[in-house]
Amino acid sequence: MKFGGTSLGSPERMQGVARLITADDQPKIVVLSALSGTTNSLAEIGQAMAVGNKSLAKSLVGELEGHYRKFYRELVTGADARQKAQGVIDEHFEFLSIILRISFNEALNKDILAQGELLSTSLFAIYLEEAGIRAFLLPALDFMSIDEFEEPEIPGIRTRLLALLSRHKGEKLFITQGYICRNSRGEIDNLKRGGSDYTASLIGAAMNAAEIQIWTDIDGMHNNDPREVGTTLPIDQLSFEEAAELAYFGAKILHPASIWPAQHFNVPVKLLNTLQPDARGTLITDQPSGDGVKAIAAKDGITAIRIKSGRMLLAYGFLRKIFEVFEKYRTPIDMVTTSEVAVSVTIDNTSQLRSILADLEPWGTVEQDLDQTIVSIVGNEVASTPEILARIFSVLAPIPLRMISYGGSRHNISLLIPGSRKKETLLLLNKGLFGLN
Ligand code: ASP
Ligand code: MG
Repeated sequence: MKFGGTSLGSPERMQGVARLITADDQPKIVVLSALSGTTNSLAEIGQAMAVGNKSLAKSLVGELEGHYRKFYRELVTGADARQKAQGVIDEHFEFLSIILRISFNEALNKDILAQGELLSTSLFAIYLEEAGIRAFLLPALDFMSIDEFEEPEIPGIRTRLLALLSRHKGEKLFITQGYICRNSRGEIDNLKRGGSDYTASLIGAAMNAAEIQIWTDIDGMHNNDPREVGTTLPIDQLSFEEAAELAYFGAKILHPASIWPAQHFNVPVKLLNTLQPDARGTLITDQPSGDGVKAIAAKDGITAIRIKSGRMLLAYGFLRKIFEVFEKYRTPIDMVTTSEVAVSVTIDNTSQLRSILADLEPWGTVEQDLDQTIVSIVGNEVASTPEILARIFSVLAPIPLRMISYGGSRHNISLLIPGSRKKETLLLLNKGLFGLN
């Protein structure tokens, strides 16, 4: 069971989490994120340190500390528990204030970012103890790891986790930190922002769990973006493929990488709502369910690059040369379309854009379009249902489509549109495909 930052955002909500994890006596590993806002603050502290602004870093540390000093007093009431909680807070904020005095580097930044989950899990364990709930803290830094390519190692995670669990035979409730891990050099690292979902999925896969539950504060994955359209509905069931496409292409509820471990080890994933624990939420399994369009998701901040070249005509190896440029700069490509004399690709990470464009230059005329949005239409077999395609294109007649990706997956049709037309596009699709506003 994984709980996100907002589910832990106040002492009351944290107490609610304690109720949810003790609602039955199934054995479980509970993965906690940092309290909401904490990782953002820690990231800001790191950024301030990186630019040498120590006084800003210091005041941010002070603000965060104030928050925790208030939080624990509402969380626990007994003298013993309060003393323990104070000790935990002292320890972590002492660490942060020492850091303010040493010179900044990337490894140190990872240490800073790890403090959020270390704090939330320790405070939660103290609360459980005070409430008389028997649970054990499993330090994620003792079992969660990534290799030199930043890929998690499930067999190693399994071996270490089983060894830790074997010290607590017969126990049923374990708490651990999401997001944090060790890298191949043994240093503290993390699974990237939002990575607690990924932790939960990796643990579920490594332990061959009966299910992986991701608890947030909405009632599952929705069929469109609630920030952009008037009405959206939760989706009861998705296949792993559909969920992966949606998580990657914009649905903010789930970390995109968290699907593959569950899929590979065939562990069902449930997205559940702490504010409405009895709501069905979304179940993600290897089973396709229902036909037609399940959901629409959008991903902003996309850059499209077009390479036009007469040399591409009847040539082989041209695409490889193009793709190698992106590989060299470790920049993933999302969409690709080609004609006989041109190829268009999209990227969302533009940190290496200048170098990429310079390296592409010898291969043809290179053009770029910034601020594009990928709109993905996802559903079982949507891309092999002609009526759906016809419907999408008629509904989107007013929208200029820069790229169309069709046929790559049977479950996804992706369109690239100007970012400025996103809202309009999502509204048109909501009406045209679901009959919603
Ligand atoms: N606390 C981390 C973050 O804010 C990880 C997570 O919440 O999943 O990114
Ligand atoms: Mg999250």
